[in-house]
Amino acid sequence: MNKEPFVTEAQIREIVKTYPTPFHIYDEAAIRRNARELLKAFAWNPGYKEFFAVKATPNPYILQILREEGCGADCSSYTELCLADAAGITGDSIMFSSNETPTGEFTKARELGAYINLDDITHIPFLQAECGIPETICMRYNPGGVYELGNGIMDNPGDAKYGCTKEQLIEAFNTLKGLGVKHFGIHSFLVSNTTAENYYPTLAKTLFTLAVELKEATGVHIAFVNLSGGIGVPYRPEQTAVDIAAVGRGVKEVYDEVLVPAGMGDVSIYTELGRFMLAPYGGLVVRAIHEKHIYKEYIGVDACAVNLMRPAMYGAYHHITVLGKEDEPCDHTYDVVGSLCENNDKFAIDRKLPKIDIGDYLFIHDTGAHGFAMGYNYNGKLKSAELLLRPDGSVKRIRRAETPADYFATLDSEIMKGHY
Ligand SMILES: *Cc1c(COP(=O)(O)O)cnc(C)c1O
Repeated sequence: MNKEPFVTEAQIREIVKTYPTPFHIYDEAAIRRNARELLKAFAWNPGYKEFFAVKATPNPYILQILREEGCGADCSSYTELCLADAAGITGDSIMFSSNETPTGEFTKARELGAYINLDDITHIPFLQAECGIPETICMRYNPGGVYELGNGIMDNPGDAKYGCTKEQLIEAFNTLKGLGVKHFGIHSFLVSNTTAENYYPTLAKTLFTLAVELKEATGVHIAFVNLSGGIGVPYRPEQTAVDIAAVGRGVKEVYDEVLVPAGMGDVSIYTELGRFMLAPYGGLVVRAIHEKHIYKEYIGVDACAVNLMRPAMYGAYHHITVLGKEDEPCDHTYDVVGSLCENNDKFAIDRKLPKIDIGDYLFIHDTGAHGFAMGYNYNGKLKSAELLLRPDGSVKRIRRAETPADYFATLDSEIMKGHY
């Protein structure tokens, strides 16, 4: 089974003349197409809005593209708020879904006019003391226990640090009402990276039912239900993509079943998708620079876990295409590895691939979300550039690669002077 890269070997050989590997490259046309499909799937809900999870791909050019398609931004830190602002996303197009929020970040969110999504009841006095209570507020729910979907996929909210209990939500809504809050939202994020089409509908049923209960218990106006992120993508070639239109229909069914009869047909649906919006539309392009033959066969490439951490961190699968060898038989077995002094720095283990020669370019698929973003600087390795493949086929650099000067910038400038 195979996955097709959105660039060809010929395109990459042209691009590397200007921008050497490694780099992440994003497919603008596909990002736009997918965003339109999502909005179409939820068009039945007049207030629907997607707040793209900035942490997935924190680049203002990507945020601008999504803004043009009608998306907002979901931020959870000061710098993510700055990125949204720089991309022209402000006011109620920002959702600030933070947790254990550091001092000063609520203030920044309020300055931008963002929705504030409180993780806990104890954050009410914290928010009040820091910058006052806004007229609309969202709160994050944790149902506890284990969360099961019909097909058995589940997660363990009882072990998760996020959100608060139903009893706390009732108490919080009463308190906030007393403090002048007029409109409320509820939010929950229970399963990550699931391609189960019933995840959103199941979560929607949980949250819609809770919304009705909260309205009855406290009399407040529930303005929106935020289904957050979590919709997954097919990282493996044998997986199939989520049918987002079916997901939208599934949520509508539950909406008509639970909210409409309760007289709550004005509730807006919000989402905070990250992975679904970007992951398949980015790739990490690397070059084979070494091969070694010991107890296993290794291909060393010019990138490492600093550029894509998911395999090292979660053992995550990322499909690899050897560019120009798409039609050759996968009759070699390799570990494709980076240069960190860490034995988990492996993009692929025991992967069947065509014979790789030094100088071949490899396309590591599905790095558009939680790819570049999770990068770090271990071993003094530097982060790569990010490139945007425009719909007209041209390439725009949307972030330059780090240089040693960037890496040393936070040190006393005197001590490193003349040493790089
Ligand atoms: C990470 C995160 C998201 C996005 O998650 P995806 O799995 O990328 O869809 C959305 N909301 C919050 C609060 C998050 O922390």
